[in-house]
Amino acid sequence: MTNALLQKPIPLPAEADRPYWDALKEHRLVLYRCSACGWYSQRPKMFCQECLGEDFEWSEVSGKGRIYGFTRVHQTWVAAFREETPYVLVSVALDEQPSLVLVTNLLGEFDFDDLDIDLPVIADFEPRGDEMLLQFRLQGDNDVQS
Ligand SMILES: [Zn+2]
Repeated sequence: MTNALLQKPIPLPAEADRPYWDALKEHRLVLYRCSACGWYSQRPKMFCQECLGEDFEWSEVSGKGRIYGFTRVHQTWVAAFREETPYVLVSVALDEQPSLVLVTNLLGEFDFDDLDIDLPVIADFEPRGDEMLLQFRLQGDNDVQS
């Protein structure tokens, strides 16, 4: 019998947010967007919290944002993550809508002491089971647009 704590959690998408997960498999980030006012949400909503509109569409965003907050994880109760400690969690304010904050791991090589609020990050993608997870990494020089 497999101990669930030895495996990293695998997303189980609902039909309603299937487009979000399908886009991640193509290394694209799509969000639920109000057709009336353009407000973004990571998850499907019954109505827009900005204008109360009820029409939405899945809309691709740049995947670029800035670090809103971060922390270093030293302990975990999920055994599958123990070999990766310490790892860094970030909350990211998206460029398109800074009030929409996404929480992921921060991938890549970096010095924790160099991390700071407002550093630019870009979406990255990590396979997990049959799905793909959204993650972020620091924007490299090649990614920074003037
Ligand atoms: Zn709206």
